[in-house]
Amino acid sequence: MMTKEKKNWINSLAAQLQVSAMQMPLLKAMPKLELHAHLNGCVRTSTLLDLAVGENSKEKISNTDLESLIRKEDRSLTECFRLFPVIHALTTDHAVVTRITREAIEDFLLDNVVYLELRTTPKCNDLYGMSKRSYVEAVFAGFEAAGVMYKTDCDVQDGHRMHVRLLLSIDRRENAEAAMNTVQLAWDMRDRGVAGVDLSGDPAIGNWETFLPALTLAKELGVPLTLHCGEVSNPKEVREMLALQPRRLGHVCCLEEAEWRALLDSGIPVEICLTSNVRTESVSSMRDHHFAALYNAKHPVVLCTDDPGLFSTSLTLEFAIAATCFGLTNLELLIMGKSAINYTFADDKTKLILHGIFDDALQ
Ligand SMILES: [Zn+2]
Repeated sequence: MMTKEKKNWINSLAAQLQVSAMQMPLLKAMPKLELHAHLNGCVRTSTLLDLAVGENSKEKISNTDLESLIRKEDRSLTECFRLFPVIHALTTDHAVVTRITREAIEDFLLDNVVYLELRTTPKCNDLYGMSKRSYVEAVFAGFEAAGVMYKTDCDVQDGHRMHVRLLLSIDRRENAEAAMNTVQLAWDMRDRGVAGVDLSGDPAIGNWETFLPALTLAKELGVPLTLHCGEVSNPKEVREMLALQPRRLGHVCCLEEAEWRALLDSGIPVEICLTSNVRTESVSSMRDHHFAALYNAKHPVVLCTDDPGLFSTSLTLEFAIAATCFGLTNLELLIMGKSAINYTFADDKTKLILHGIFDDALQ
């Protein structure tokens, strides 16, 4: 469940945003697609606290001010970077991976997300008998526990309200061989709920060319690709990423004029993460966010959360920010959501079901 602290935080942000009391429930009730959410960034504060005081946790973490760091809602960039390794250290075994997956889905369900693409880097950990494949199985166990539909072409089941797909992330700290293994795993598990591959991680780390062979293989196999792009200024990398023609790009915050024009010409849909971009200082302020320019240029965009747990946000809140800062109406937000069905990595049958859900809402 959402903690009391988080509810208060979201309510106070809504007040700051001057979203009317009437509008928040409407935004929440609206069907939504979440296409850019990292599993480890979705972990609830209450779960982190629970895991931090659990058995063996002292061996994993040694921060004396850990509890206040976990409890804090408006974390600074430095605090976010301090929390990342803590989350990583606390989410090591199969049971925890299954738990945080189930809880992440439950939280998106409460936000009326009808289709979710959750992404995560498959991890190996000999200490816990974990391989990349068993890690993915643990995520699937979370899908099962949450009662969602996640397999390709699966029929709508009674009581199952959400379609979920998994994207396997290549972390920029990994080497070429590990990246290749991840693409192979995505291909092997394509009928079991893995819908694509993502490139993510600290943009200052690693050389993008390391991952080109694996990403090229994904393209050859027909595994859909999304890339974290332009989180820091790196025109050469942005140009090369655009040349690869992935199915989607995440962020694209720091683009020079030539790369910006190339992005617009490419028509590649962009996953927009408003709060994340401001909090991580990729964008100087919400008013300066490039979402407005992309939206006004009719470039395909989709609003996403990135790390709702880490940044204390929700998709409803991101919609509220878009409504307040950029003047989008509820109808425009709904139409933007419906358009994004075409940018998902879902099969055609699932897309048709989603179009039906949005058409009902539009009426
Ligand atoms: Zn991300």
